[in-house]
Amino acid sequence: MASLSQRFGFIGLGAMGYPMATQLRRKLPTTTVLVIYDLNTTALENFSQENNAFGPIQIATCSKEVCDLADCIITIVPEGTHVRAVYLTPETGLLATNTTGKVFIESSTIDRGTSLEIGKAVASSDYNPSNPPNFVDIPVSGGTAGAEKGILTFMAGAAEEEPIFPLLREICLLMGSSVYPCGARGLGIAAKLSNNYLSGLIALATSEAMNIGMRCGLDPKVLSNCFATSSGGSWVNSTVNPVPGVCPDAVTSRGYEGGFKVQLMKKDMSLAVETAKQVGAKLVLADAGLGAYTAASEDPKCRDRDSRVVYRWLGGHEPEFKRD
Ligand code: NAD
Repeated sequence: MASLSQRFGFIGLGAMGYPMATQLRRKLPTTTVLVIYDLNTTALENFSQENNAFGPIQIATCSKEVCDLADCIITIVPEGTHVRAVYLTPETGLLATNTTGKVFIESSTIDRGTSLEIGKAVASSDYNPSNPPNFVDIPVSGGTAGAEKGILTFMAGAAEEEPIFPLLREICLLMGSSVYPCGARGLGIAAKLSNNYLSGLIALATSEAMNIGMRCGLDPKVLSNCFATSSGGSWVNSTVNPVPGVCPDAVTSRGYEGGFKVQLMKKDMSLAVETAKQVGAKLVLADAGLGAYTAASEDPKCRDRDSRVVYRWLGGHEPEFKRD
């Protein structure tokens, strides 16, 4: 089984993957090799330059090469189609080579069906039966700021009693501060989609509530402080309040640049609504929430920006904010 002293692979150096891999490189033993791969070669070169002082970094030319060179591989790419490409592309995908004893940690937020299917493909890949590979869905929460600080939450599609869980926890704690064993494969994804459904609706509700109070004449910081110690308080309100200037260090005070793209929130809400249908969970807020994020994703003033830009989409006043 892979251990922290061996070779790690990381695929997907985007808004989340780049800072997660940075945490890994800085906290892994300096003798451990980190093999990286992304379609974006600039990201690979920048990463290597910024982090090679912390230990060896090897740039792979495709996902298969990552599997050849590493024992534990973390993947974090946008959608199910990208995860399929990374794992299943003939000749160049992760499973195009021998997978004996490899640990695959899949951290993208995708649909449960694709995740379970990839898990089956890993189980039927080419390996020595005495040392099978292990595929686990372990999506993350905490945003780009949480990734940069190494305080992400990991939702593992595994049971605490599984022999592999201590190793998974050890690896995740290099990039985060909380790791929850959700019970079985696919349940990490289920936890993540439930969370993002909730967080997307809270952001929308906070935006609407801020807009009401501010239009009545309230200062946004005063209003946010009122929520914080009252029943309307939330992580969104206090950490990434949708109104510019309320949380000076948040992406919402930097023109909503970076962070969790509004299109990704639309994707996650759609996946959560689909999951709800599959399991017969009644939703009454889904149409409003999904409608708002779909429209904001298509609005040129909001597209490609952090999902809390839904406040802008609502027509909320954006106070001038200048950092000291
Ligand atoms: P991103 O678009 O910033 O980065 C994705 C990276 O994957 C890009 O660098 C891209 O080049 C790479 N990629 C795509 N296809 C690839 C392939 N076939 N082979 C190699 N590399 C490939 O996305 P992100 O914001 O980092 O999000 C990644 C995942 O994490 C998504 O599923 C998202 O829902 C989830 N997530 C994002 C956040 C956030 O705040 N951004 C928070 C939690 C979870």
